[in-house]
Amino acid sequence: MKVIKTGLIYIFAIALAVAIVMFVNFANRYQLNPKEVYKVYLDGKVLGNINDKEELEEYINDEQKELKEKYMVDKVYIPTGVDIQKCTTYEKEVLTAKQVHNLIKEEKPFTIKGYKITIKPNNDDEEKIIINVLDKDMFDRALKSVVEAFISKEQIKNYENNTQPEIKDTGSIIEDIYIDQDITIKQGYISTDEQIFTDEKLLTKYLLFGNLQEDQYYTVKEGDTIDSIAYDHKLATAEFLVVNPEFTSANNLLSVGQQVKVGLISPIVDVVVESHTVLDQESQYKTTTEYDSSMSAGIQKVEVEGQNGLDRLTTKLKTINGETTNVVIVSKEVITPAVDKVVKVGTKINGGTATAPIMSGTWAWPTISQYYISSYFGYRWGKIHEALDIAGSGEGSPIFAAGSGVVVASLNKGSLGNYVTIEHGNGYYTLYAHLHSRTVQVGQTVEKGQQIGTMGHTGFATGTHVHFGLYKNGLPYRDGIPLDPLILYR
Ligand SMILES: [Zn+2]
Repeated sequence: MKVIKTGLIYIFAIALAVAIVMFVNFANRYQLNPKEVYKVYLDGKVLGNINDKEELEEYINDEQKELKEKYMVDKVYIPTGVDIQKCTTYEKEVLTAKQVHNLIKEEKPFTIKGYKITIKPNNDDEEKIIINVLDKDMFDRALKSVVEAFISKEQIKNYENNTQPEIKDTGSIIEDIYIDQDITIKQGYISTDEQIFTDEKLLTKYLLFGNLQEDQYYTVKEGDTIDSIAYDHKLATAEFLVVNPEFTSANNLLSVGQQVKVGLISPIVDVVVESHTVLDQESQYKTTTEYDSSMSAGIQKVEVEGQNGLDRLTTKLKTINGETTNVVIVSKEVITPAVDKVVKVGTKINGGTATAPIMSGTWAWPTISQYYISSYFGYRWGKIHEALDIAGSGEGSPIFAAGSGVVVASLNKGSLGNYVTIEHGNGYYTLYAHLHSRTVQVGQTVEKGQQIGTMGHTGFATGTHVHFGLYKNGLPYRDGIPLDPLILYR
């Protein structure tokens, strides 16, 4: 009996507590006497009550005024759907005009009339980029400045006015300049809480560098050259010149204490230049080995010193943001023929004859003699390009082994596409990538100059070329040390 009584007391106590809490709650939200307030709605939804309608209107006006001054526009549009109604309420809670003003801004920002520019990437993995501007012409001017980072103003002017000088010996005639992205411009209302570009320089920087980070500077020290500064900051010299347009060539003089930009660009747009270009390029000499049984083995004698020649190439070049991506060699004229090196190698051993050594110490060029080096070994925008890109010989043209050796890789994989790796002994490996086809298998022995495949553009390659790499003491892109393949021919 006593237990039941105690239980009842507990239940009663809990019920009372609940009632008090409810009453307190009720008393908190509502009051006994109604009062007049302004209810502020946004798209029909209540944002809150305020006492002073004019105060809120003042906040809105001030915000408009501030935005008008910031963007130098005549009109700033307040969010649509704001409604203020006088009413009588028992609700206790009243917000300040400032609180309601902030609630409105959070839900729907103020807008101004401007242009939304959408840049669609060519690559499906990349997201489209939207740029807000108030002045359409300012965007055009900024875009033009980006183009001018890669081609001089004078060249553009001559191209546009059809006054490009004729090519006498070597030179270039621009056939087309374009941006390789779909850019659409739409007029509309732009939220003031988004980035709106009003400064042409800032927009140019964004289009060229791909971000709005602070510029990175380097202070020139004694002994610095444009080449050395570029290399230390993982830039190709040409890239340094893009970032520092006040310099026209790597030979320009620097003064100690001078500040130069060393940031990496990552253009949002692709500036494509197609040109008819005549240029001179060194041709590599070949080496012929003559075996002499009257000379002792291990003895080598250079009979004729090799000398590189000079070829004049007439080409159709396509560059994207300053990098050559496609080359077609229209014709080749030999200005100075290369002089082949002749090496005499002794084979006499104790009266007998030894077989010829595997590596004669000279290397074959991996393509046919019609070629154009579209990218050298070295830095390209912060990453080392571990090879020589040789183009211009045409899709399907033969690719030769640079030296004799054993094929250690022949497959189609990843960004290299179809590729072949040859081990030459003494720790040297050569790599031939983006091949159209491969004609050798792993384990096969190849001779110097033997065809191993054909030139192509498989894997990650913008145009037809062979990505020709040289490595020491390990496999390419593993533990091998990348070397400039041109050292083989010097
Ligand atoms: Zn390459």
